[in-house]
Amino acid sequence: MNTGFKNLLRLCADFFAPRECMACGKTNPKGEFGYLCPSCAAKIYFIRGGACLRCGEIVASNNAPFVQSCSSCALEKPFFNRAASACLYGDKGSERLLFALKYGGGTFAAADLARMVLKNNNAANFLKGALLCPVPLHKSRLRKRNYNQSELIARKVAELAPFLNIRIANLLERRRNTRTQTSLDKAQRAANVRGAFSLSAGARDILKTERNNIPRVVIFDDVMTTSATASECAKVLKRAGFEAVDCFCVFKRL
Ligand SMILES: [Zn+2]
Ligand SMILES: [Zn+2]
Repeated sequence: MNTGFKNLLRLCADFFAPRECMACGKTNPKGEFGYLCPSCAAKIYFIRGGACLRCGEIVASNNAPFVQSCSSCALEKPFFNRAASACLYGDKGSERLLFALKYGGGTFAAADLARMVLKNNNAANFLKGALLCPVPLHKSRLRKRNYNQSELIARKVAELAPFLNIRIANLLERRRNTRTQTSLDKAQRAANVRGAFSLSAGARDILKTERNNIPRVVIFDDVMTTSATASECAKVLKRAGFEAVDCFCVFKRL
């Protein structure tokens, strides 16, 4: 579809079903996001420095350089090779988009969250040519929500950036319905997800059919707090034979 026609369709859609900026309520916001106006989008903190390249932890201000390793991964190395997130969680727009997608059935929010991923300077480098593995939900939660929010965002990223040649595959299954991590400290989080994931049949197929050129996997999640979940996922993938496993998240939460 050409851009002019797309714009016309959007104008018609906005007339019949006005969109609103998720943060301030402004009607039919123009700009690079569908549901955030430019001034609310300017409040998003895109991570461009000050993070640990190994585990993705924020260790200094955004203007500081990236570091190769931090005190936390010096103590215990995560199973993935490296991790990064696109944005720091906390501005109103990000919070509301993610909340709509996770708890309000708002699948429309996935495209804007994918745009945030692609706007980060590091994303292309992480995602190019990778096999993206969304962190799976347990089937009881999947039944309630009808979709895996991380998978929806990953699919939008692939669709918006076809030049990155991203593939998406559900390489893992969640065999245990873990309790929510929100109130847990670092050690409790690690214990909470231990043994929660197993390899999917699809992953076994890929390991067999692509054994001469095993693809690089990027575990993809909406929010990273500690690296416990991603590390547990990477452990299962590495033990199964995936050698290069990285992790990329939309948001890093402090
Ligand atoms: Zn706004
Ligand atoms: Zn680190």
